[in-house]
Amino acid sequence: MIELKSTMDQKYKKIVMKFGGTSMADIDCVYKVADHIERELSNGKLVAVVVSAMAGETDRLIGLADQVGNIELQSERDVIISSGEQVSSAILSMTLNKRNIPARSIQGWQIPLITNSMHGSARISDIKSSHLEKLMEKGIVPIIAGFQGISEENRVTTLGRGGSDTTAVAIACSIDADLCDIYTDVDGVYTSDPRIIPDAQKLKLVSFEEMLEMASQGAKVLQTRSVELAMSYNMPVRVRSTFSENDFENVKNGTNIGTIVTNEEKILEDKVVSGIAYSKSEAKVTIQKLEDKPGIAAEIFGSLANDGINVDMIVQNISADGKHTDLTFTVQETDLRAAKLVIEGLSDSIKYAKLEDSKDIAKVSIIGVGMRSHAGVAAQMFSILAEKGINIQAITTSEIKVSVLIELDHIEKAMRALHSAYELDQN
Ligand code: ADP
Ligand code: ASP
Ligand code: MG
Repeated sequence: MIELKSTMDQKYKKIVMKFGGTSMADIDCVYKVADHIERELSNGKLVAVVVSAMAGETDRLIGLADQVGNIELQSERDVIISSGEQVSSAILSMTLNKRNIPARSIQGWQIPLITNSMHGSARISDIKSSHLEKLMEKGIVPIIAGFQGISEENRVTTLGRGGSDTTAVAIACSIDADLCDIYTDVDGVYTSDPRIIPDAQKLKLVSFEEMLEMASQGAKVLQTRSVELAMSYNMPVRVRSTFSENDFENVKNGTNIGTIVTNEEKILEDKVVSGIAYSKSEAKVTIQKLEDKPGIAAEIFGSLANDGINVDMIVQNISADGKHTDLTFTVQETDLRAAKLVIEGLSDSIKYAKLEDSKDIAKVSIIGVGMRSHAGVAAQMFSILAEKGINIQAITTSEIKVSVLIELDHIEKAMRALHSAYELDQN
């Protein structure tokens, strides 16, 4: 047991503690996880725990399901891929009980955490949390299997990769917790992925909006949906480490633990750019010499949407003859095959010369609420990339984000250049 009586955090009485895959990787890790839970309980906290599958397990299960390859039976696929969390929740519960800490594993359907029927990326519609709250009042720690739910049709569903974060935030909202602690293998949210940019700095605070953009642009430290939920319920989320010695010191001193994701009012820092995210998981589709007439784009993107395919970036070039155009768009790599099938299926109604695709692309995004009050941020980003000889293939912007599509090989160079140009390596 960790003999650390933290002096801070007294305002957080009821907490959700979520442990990701690397935190649950093996029995030694599970002991560390149990130490954290024991510490919070001994500090008088009311605790609910959410766990992911042990590291690598969900990938293994997906591989297994894909060997059968029956993509029509997404419901059975969810039964397979959600099973990793069943195992890890019971392992942690057994470990705690062995230490005389009453705990009980709970699967998504036992809560129940109710979702829609979009197997593989289901959205939570309701959580009946009275069962959890009763357990907590009795001094039993619920160890909830993350990532999984149950549909109105009584089938097991999963919430998409990284979905345990969303389970954790949703549970925190439904039991009216004061904080949702996300324990992972980094000690907070950094200015960029610390595995790619070693000079990245840990952020003390990050706004919901910035975190939402960072997550949706590829920073997988939190699942995008979990940030959306936290933002709409104003639930503070703290990202912190299961392992870092630093963090153990911080707990002792009661300061500087992890990164708090919270509303903007609490954030005083005003850097124009506060983070850089990247994604290598997108693919580009180009429809060459497409007929240029009203209704074509609506037909293409409408059909993609009907098949549940999310399109991210879109670029349309007018061709020289004024009758044709080249249309380029990006989708998740995992949707590429389906997207091409949709376009090919439209060949009766839309005319084009050629359909091309590429996975050798990556997206880099700069994010910061400071952009709201600064002009010329996009232009500056483009010139930083131009100086490095990096060509931009597509652009999207929002009020607090600029994303560009570049060649995959240039991703690290681009991120390093932007990270230092925006002085993110300085505290
Ligand atoms: P878990 O298994 O705990 O859910 P994930 O692998 O899903 O953990 O998320 C943690 C990882 O997110 C880190 O190891 C890190 O490589 C990556 N990451 C990407 N962008 C960032 C960022 N800006 N700050 C911190 N981590 C990031
Ligand atoms: N185990 C699931 C995954 O690997 C959910 C999660 O880790 O959050 O995606
Ligand atoms: Mg994760």
